[in-house]
Amino acid sequence: MRWDIAIVGAGASGYYAAIHAAQTLESYGMSYRIAILERAAEVLAKVRISGGGRCNVTHDQRDPKILIEHYPRGNKALLGPFHHHGPDQVIEFFNELGVVLKTESDGRMFPVTDRSDTIINALVAEADRLGIQVVTKSSVQALTYDPSQSFWHIETTAQPYQARTVLVAAGSSPQMGRLLEDLGHKMVPPVPSLFTFHIQDARLQGLMGLSTEVSLRLLDSQGTPSKPLVATSGPLLITHWGVSGPAVLKASAWGARLLSEWKYQCFIELNWLPGSTFDSIDRALEEFSLKEAKKSMNFNPFSTLPKRLWERMITTAGCGGEQTWAHLTKEQRIALATELTQGRYRVTGKSTFKEEFVTAGGVDLGEVRFKDLSSKRVPQLFFAGECLDVDAVTGGFNFQNAWTTGYLAAQGMVAWLMEHPVEARD
Ligand SMILES: Cc1cc2nc3c(=O)[nH]c(=O)nc-3n(C[C@H](O)[C@H](O)[C@H](O)COP(=O)(O)OP(=O)(O)OC[C@H]3O[C@@H](n4cnc5c(N)ncnc54)[C@H](O)[C@@H]3O)c2cc1C
Repeated sequence: MRWDIAIVGAGASGYYAAIHAAQTLESYGMSYRIAILERAAEVLAKVRISGGGRCNVTHDQRDPKILIEHYPRGNKALLGPFHHHGPDQVIEFFNELGVVLKTESDGRMFPVTDRSDTIINALVAEADRLGIQVVTKSSVQALTYDPSQSFWHIETTAQPYQARTVLVAAGSSPQMGRLLEDLGHKMVPPVPSLFTFHIQDARLQGLMGLSTEVSLRLLDSQGTPSKPLVATSGPLLITHWGVSGPAVLKASAWGARLLSEWKYQCFIELNWLPGSTFDSIDRALEEFSLKEAKKSMNFNPFSTLPKRLWERMITTAGCGGEQTWAHLTKEQRIALATELTQGRYRVTGKSTFKEEFVTAGGVDLGEVRFKDLSSKRVPQLFFAGECLDVDAVTGGFNFQNAWTTGYLAAQGMVAWLMEHPVEARD
C-alpha cells in the first residue's frame, strides 16, 4: 500500500498534522491518501490523561515573543512558527470543530466541558470525515528512503507500507530516536522534565498542603549556584515528599539537563519573601523589633507568610515561642533573615508530576527547517511535537508546540506533494 502521507504516531501532533494536511488538500480539490500508524491500541492516549483529564489545550498568551519564554528548549526556533500558527489559530480550529475553549485565571485554556474526550472526539470525528486511515497496533520498526523512486519503505509489526512523505510524530519514543539516528539524524539524549523535588527537612515537616509564593534558585550539591543560573518564582506547595507547585516545576524544566547530570542531588535556595533580599529583610527586622518591642514574635508576625510557616521560621532561627520582639538577638535576627530569604534545602531525588510530564531532548533542532519542519538530512521527512528537542513548562505550552509544529509539517508535506504530482513522476 502506498500513501501520500504516512504519519508515525497517533498523538496530538500526528492527528493535528493529518487533519490539516487533509483539509488543505481537500480545499485544493486534490485526492490524497493519508494514514496514521500507531503502535498502541488506543489513539490520543496522552490527550486523554492530560491536564488531570481536562486537557489543557493551550495558553491564552497570544504574543509569540512572550509565548516562547515558556520553552526552555526550542524557544528561538518556535518564534517564526508561532507567528504562523499560534494559540489564536488553535482556538479557531477547535471552534470550527464545535469545541469551545475557556480561559482560567492563570491563562490556561481547557474545553468548556472540562473533559479531554471532548478534544479526542472532535479530532477523531474530523479525521474520519476526511477519510484519514488510522492503523492501530502497528509499531513502525524501520524507515528506509528509496532515492531511485523517491519514496519511503515503512516496516511495521503488522505489514509493510510505502509513502511519499513521512511525518515522525512519535513523541519521546527512544526506539524511534534510534531509527532517526540510523537515518543520520543527531538526537539530543532524552531527560525528564516537569517533576517535583524530594526533600526531607525538619523545617518542612508537618506543613504539607501549605502553598505560598516564593522565588527559588538552583544550587549544586556543594551549594554553588547553577551555571547557567536557574531562578524561578511562583507558588510553591509543600507536599509529604518535599516540594511541588509552579516554582518547582519551572525549575525542573529550566534545570532539566543540569539536574539529570547531578543525579537529582542538589540544593534549592528559597526566598519566602520574593522581591526582598537578605540585607533589606535584616534592616526591616531590626526596625520592626524596635517598633513592636513589647509584642510576641509568634502572634505579631513581621510578614504576611502563612502562620504555620512563620512559626517554623522563628523557631528555626532559635526564637522561643513566647519571645517578644525586644528579645530578638543579632544572631537570631541574622538567622531569621537568612531563613526568610536564603533558606537552603537539600534535594535528594525527584518525583513525577502526575498532571503533566514531558521529556527534554529529541531531534536536534539544527537539523530541522522550522518553516516546514522538514529534515535537513533526509528528503520527504518531517517532524512534529515532542519528538523534537522542544519542551515547555506547564500551562498548555507543550500541546501548543504539538499543534504548531503539526500544522507547519502538514503544510510542508502538502507543498512537497503539490510540487511533485504523481503523474509527472510515475
Ligand atoms: C500525564 C500527562 C499530562 C499532560 N498534560 C498536558 C496538558 O494538559 N497540556 C499540555 O500542553 N501538555 C500536557 N502534557 C504533555 C503533552 O501530552 C505532550 O507534550 C504531547 O502529548 C506531545 O504530543 P506528541 O503528538 O508529540 O506525542 P505523543 O502524544 O506522545 O504521541 C506519540 C504517539 O506515537 C506513538 N508511537 C511512538 N513510537 C511509535 C512507533 N514506532 N510506531 C507507531 N507509533 C508510535 C505513541 O504510542 C503515541 O501514541 C501532558 C503529558 C502527560 C504525560
